[in-house]
Amino acid sequence: MKQQRTTGRTTKLLLVDAAVLLRAATFAADKHRHQRRKDADASPYINHPLAVACLLAVEANVQDEALLAAALLHDTVEDTEATLIELEETFGPTVRGIVEEVTDDKSLPKKERKALQVNHAPHASVAARQLKIADKICNIRDIADCPPADWSKSRKVEYLSWTEDVVRGCRGANATLDAVYDQAIKKARRKLGIEA
Ligand code: NDP
Ligand code: ZN
Repeated sequence: MKQQRTTGRTTKLLLVDAAVLLRAATFAADKHRHQRRKDADASPYINHPLAVACLLAVEANVQDEALLAAALLHDTVEDTEATLIELEETFGPTVRGIVEEVTDDKSLPKKERKALQVNHAPHASVAARQLKIADKICNIRDIADCPPADWSKSRKVEYLSWTEDVVRGCRGANATLDAVYDQAIKKARRKLGIEA
């Protein structure tokens, strides 16, 4: 199915199956239905995977259907009772594989999980590296615009620096995303009143 989308100045064709993406969005909305983001308004969690998929499609012009579906689903296994087997049965092995690559092992201590993200990034697939950057872009935009209510400035600063370490290993998969990340972190630091 071909879908038209308008980005403001130009109209482009998004050559992906809308039904697949709508099924993924509906699945994610159901799984995350009781979760909220950490901002002061406790926004619905689903806003985040929607933002990640939207960023890939609209700002980075990603046309890869499996990657866009995986973006919508990327936090379901890490943060809900959804399983990789369920994802494979519902969306196929490619989508399952991408989500698996970006899913942390929550049985590990947080510090170790964060180090593993940095170490694993350069070895991830092209699709997973794009999804990782998009996820980090959305999170640093949230840190700047609607941060976790109880985070000190130093915690925000540390989080931004950690995303740089992860993104360093993801670069080269999509030049547009690399540039969007660079703009986003610059803007977030400016908003927090800090230098790089
Ligand atoms: P967490 O992993 O606990 O929280 C960040 C994650 O929360 C994001 O990756 C995002 O994950 C999710 N999230 C939900 N809502 C928001 C939002 N509004 N804005 C941004 N992210 C949101 O962070 P850490 O505890 O790992 O903290 C980051 C750094 O801070 C670490 O390096 C840690 O060591 C350090 N730290 C510093 C402290 C201090 O006081 N200085 C105290 C504790 C930690 P997702 O995409 O999965 O939704
Ligand atoms: Zn995420």
